[in-house]
Amino acid sequence: MSGCIFCRVAAGEIPAEIVKRGEGMLAFTDISPQAPTHLLIIPTIHIGSLNDAKDPTLLGNLVAFARDAAREAGLATRGYRVVINTNPDGGQTVFHLHVHLLGGRPMHWPPG
Ligand code: AMP
Ligand code: ZN
Repeated sequence: MSGCIFCRVAAGEIPAEIVKRGEGMLAFTDISPQAPTHLLIIPTIHIGSLNDAKDPTLLGNLVAFARDAAREAGLATRGYRVVINTNPDGGQTVFHLHVHLLGGRPMHWPPG
Protein backbone atom coordinates (compact mmCIF):
# COMPACT_ATOMS: atom_id res chain seq x y z
CA MET A 1 0.00 0.00 0.00
CA SER A 2 1.55 3.30 -1.02
CA GLY A 3 2.45 5.43 1.94
CA CYS A 4 2.77 2.47 4.29
CA ILE A 5 6.23 2.45 5.83
CA PHE A 6 6.46 -1.34 6.20
CA CYS A 7 5.19 -1.93 2.64
CA ARG A 8 8.06 0.33 1.59
CA VAL A 9 10.51 -1.71 3.69
CA ALA A 10 9.15 -4.89 2.05
CA ALA A 11 9.59 -3.30 -1.40
CA GLY A 12 13.16 -2.27 -0.60
CA GLU A 13 12.28 1.43 -0.89
CA ILE A 14 13.26 2.17 2.71
CA PRO A 15 16.53 0.75 4.04
CA ALA A 16 16.22 -1.79 6.82
CA GLU A 17 18.50 -4.34 8.41
CA ILE A 18 16.77 -7.45 7.13
CA VAL A 19 17.84 -10.48 9.12
CA LYS A 20 15.57 -13.20 7.72
CA ARG A 21 13.42 -13.69 4.64
CA GLY A 22 10.67 -16.23 4.18
CA GLU A 23 7.77 -16.97 1.88
CA GLY A 24 5.66 -13.81 2.04
CA MET A 25 7.32 -12.47 5.19
CA LEU A 26 10.51 -10.93 6.49
CA ALA A 27 12.21 -9.94 9.73
CA PHE A 28 14.20 -6.76 10.24
CA THR A 29 15.72 -4.85 13.12
CA ASP A 30 13.51 -2.32 14.89
CA ILE A 31 14.80 1.21 14.37
CA SER A 32 14.28 1.99 18.08
CA PRO A 33 15.21 -1.25 19.85
CA GLN A 34 13.66 -1.88 23.26
CA ALA A 35 15.87 -4.91 24.02
CA PRO A 36 19.28 -6.20 22.89
CA THR A 37 17.42 -8.14 20.19
CA HIS A 38 14.35 -6.39 18.81
CA LEU A 39 13.09 -7.65 15.47
CA LEU A 40 9.91 -6.92 13.59
CA ILE A 41 8.33 -9.71 11.56
CA ILE A 42 5.94 -8.59 8.84
CA PRO A 43 3.90 -10.12 6.05
CA THR A 44 5.03 -8.61 2.74
CA ILE A 45 1.39 -8.01 1.76
CA HIS A 46 -0.35 -5.10 3.45
CA ILE A 47 -2.55 -6.06 6.40
CA GLY A 48 -3.40 -3.13 8.65
CA SER A 49 -3.56 -4.89 11.99
CA LEU A 50 -4.31 -8.19 13.68
CA ASN A 51 -7.99 -7.24 13.40
CA ASP A 52 -7.67 -7.30 9.60
CA ALA A 53 -5.80 -10.63 9.38
CA LYS A 54 -8.30 -13.05 7.84
CA ASP A 55 -5.94 -15.95 7.17
CA PRO A 56 -5.10 -18.08 10.24
CA THR A 57 -2.41 -19.89 8.23
CA LEU A 58 -0.62 -16.59 7.62
CA LEU A 59 -0.82 -15.78 11.33
CA GLY A 60 0.56 -19.19 12.26
CA ASN A 61 3.36 -18.76 9.74
CA LEU A 62 4.25 -15.34 11.19
CA VAL A 63 4.49 -16.75 14.72
CA ALA A 64 6.52 -19.76 13.56
CA PHE A 65 8.80 -17.38 11.66
CA ALA A 66 9.29 -15.32 14.83
CA ARG A 67 10.06 -18.52 16.76
CA ASP A 68 12.64 -19.55 14.15
CA ALA A 69 14.20 -16.05 14.16
CA ALA A 70 14.44 -16.24 17.96
CA ARG A 71 16.20 -19.59 17.76
CA GLU A 72 18.61 -18.29 15.11
CA ALA A 73 19.34 -15.27 17.32
CA GLY A 74 20.30 -17.64 20.14
CA LEU A 75 17.31 -16.71 22.30
CA ALA A 76 15.42 -20.00 22.48
CA THR A 77 16.78 -21.32 25.77
CA ARG A 78 16.81 -18.14 27.84
CA GLY A 79 13.57 -17.01 26.28
CA TYR A 80 12.05 -14.06 24.53
CA ARG A 81 8.78 -12.22 24.07
CA VAL A 82 6.52 -12.04 21.01
CA VAL A 83 4.08 -9.13 20.91
CA ILE A 84 1.45 -7.87 18.46
CA ASN A 85 0.32 -4.39 19.44
CA THR A 86 -3.14 -3.76 18.03
CA ASN A 87 -4.84 -0.39 17.55
CA PRO A 88 -4.45 2.58 19.91
CA ASP A 89 -4.99 0.88 23.27
CA GLY A 90 -2.59 -1.86 22.19
CA GLY A 91 0.08 0.71 21.43
CA GLN A 92 0.12 0.19 17.67
CA THR A 93 1.77 3.08 15.82
CA VAL A 94 2.51 1.51 12.42
CA PHE A 95 -0.61 0.17 10.77
CA HIS A 96 0.91 -2.74 8.89
CA LEU A 97 0.65 -5.98 10.87
CA HIS A 98 3.91 -6.79 12.63
CA VAL A 99 5.15 -9.10 15.34
CA HIS A 100 7.72 -7.75 17.78
CA LEU A 101 10.39 -10.25 18.83
CA LEU A 102 12.18 -9.04 21.95
CA GLY A 103 14.98 -10.82 23.76
CA GLY A 104 18.41 -10.64 25.29
CA ARG A 105 17.23 -9.39 28.69
CA PRO A 106 14.60 -10.44 31.23
CA MET A 107 11.17 -9.05 30.37
CA HIS A 108 8.85 -7.50 32.93
CA TRP A 109 5.27 -8.43 33.70
CA PRO A 110 2.77 -6.89 33.61
CA PRO A 111 3.79 -4.89 30.54
CA GLY A 112 3.25 -1.14 30.63
P1 AMP B 1 4.06 -0.55 17.05
O1 AMP B 1 4.12 0.56 18.05
O2 AMP B 1 3.71 -1.88 17.64
O3 AMP B 1 3.18 -0.20 15.87
O4 AMP B 1 5.54 -0.75 16.53
C1 AMP B 1 6.09 -0.03 15.46
C2 AMP B 1 7.55 -0.24 15.54
O5 AMP B 1 8.12 0.10 14.30
C3 AMP B 1 8.26 0.62 16.60
O6 AMP B 1 8.92 -0.23 17.52
C4 AMP B 1 9.23 1.46 15.77
O7 AMP B 1 10.45 1.67 16.43
C5 AMP B 1 9.39 0.63 14.52
N1 AMP B 1 9.75 1.33 13.30
C6 AMP B 1 9.16 2.43 12.77
N2 AMP B 1 9.72 2.76 11.60
C7 AMP B 1 10.70 1.84 11.37
C8 AMP B 1 11.64 1.63 10.33
N3 AMP B 1 11.70 2.45 9.26
N4 AMP B 1 12.50 0.59 10.41
C9 AMP B 1 12.45 -0.23 11.50
N5 AMP B 1 11.58 -0.09 12.50
C10 AMP B 1 10.71 0.93 12.44
ZN1 ZN C 1 1.77 -1.94 4.51
